Amino acid sequence: MTIVRYDPTGQPNNRYPREIISPPSPSVCCRREMRRMGKMKRGEGGWPYFYKRCQVCGYTVREFVGYTELAQHVSKRGRGRREGLRGGAWRTWIDGIFAE
Ligand SMILES: [Zn+2]
Repeated sequence: MTIVRYDPTGQPNNRYPREIISPPSPSVCCRREMRRMGKMKRGEGGWPYFYKRCQVCGYTVREFVGYTELAQHVSKRGRGRREGLRGGAWRTWIDGIFAE
């Protein structure tokens, strides 16, 4: 599930958290101007992501959080760095993050 709608004709429009209207493809500006918005969300496979939107043209994508960043999130809350991301441990971590 995503709230991003890629519209080749419509004006970019940020109606976060309901809907984001984005141009269909990125431009040169997107290399520098993409910013995360809102809170971390949970994707289809359970993995967390952020919406990332270009400040200039409004192009928006989902950016899935990497292992390293996820581990930082979890260790900030004083849990489980030693457990590593072995096996299914990450699922428990993510459950914990979203339970707060
Ligand atoms: Zn852009």
